[in-house]
Amino acid sequence: MTAKCPLCESQNATLHLQLKDYFLSKEDFEIYQCQSCGLLYTWPRPADDIIGKYYKSDDYLSHNEKKKGLIPFIYNCVKRVNVANKFRMATTGTQGRRMLDFGCGVGDFLHFAQQKGYEVTGADLSPDARRFASEKLGKPVISPDEVFALPDNSFDIITMWHVLEHISDLKKQAELLDRLLADGGRLVIALPNYQSYDAQYYKDKWAAYDVPRHLNHFNQKTLESVFADTQLHIVGVRPLKWDAYYISMMSEGYIGGGNAFVKGVLTGLKSNRAARKNGQYSSMVYIFER
Ligand SMILES: [Zn+2]
Repeated sequence: MTAKCPLCESQNATLHLQLKDYFLSKEDFEIYQCQSCGLLYTWPRPADDIIGKYYKSDDYLSHNEKKKGLIPFIYNCVKRVNVANKFRMATTGTQGRRMLDFGCGVGDFLHFAQQKGYEVTGADLSPDARRFASEKLGKPVISPDEVFALPDNSFDIITMWHVLEHISDLKKQAELLDRLLADGGRLVIALPNYQSYDAQYYKDKWAAYDVPRHLNHFNQKTLESVFADTQLHIVGVRPLKWDAYYISMMSEGYIGGGNAFVKGVLTGLKSNRAARKNGQYSSMVYIFER
């Protein structure tokens, strides 16, 4: 089957990278770059009804708070600091308090926002994550299908923390977000950045390629193309500096050879130092307004 761009449907693509699902299945995948719109996309793309098998692991940390070991411990500490930082990015300068976190995982971000007086709605594909998050928030967390049933202008702020890279139908998602946000509303999208130093350094072992769970790999230009037919436009870009360390440690784990922690910290430092000059951090947060 010929590769086909999920954004513009062009079949004109060049091979960007051959890699494996180092995290779970060890299966081979490829990443193509569309020659028409520039998007990088994973190929083959597991269909929606089978993608679930690639998530069935206790190691999928965003859904797991109980795992022992140094890296999960650090992940959870950093997550707590990050939540406050993300909350500031999402809310500074906004008016309304109706907030949707699409792909809310176990609900830490929304829980923080709820304590700050926001009227929160959580959505996640994973039933396990929904159960954890519902308990934390004291209200039902909905599925993505239920989000599609919500009325226009339902929210003032929508956040997607490392979620858009998992979504197969990008145009449909962009239409949904545009419809759900009120005028003057804000959309916050965090994504890995394959133009960062750590991505260039680790190449096929870069943990944030995370195929086939990550179906799409964006830069600012291709992200803007996703929203080209909407009223949403980028008004700011921010770094997530801690991701450089975490992603580098995971990547060192895929290389093997030990000392993943120390080597990961060193590469993370180099990545953030390089990004201070060229703006290409390991993860980027794009702030849109409508
Ligand atoms: Zn394309």
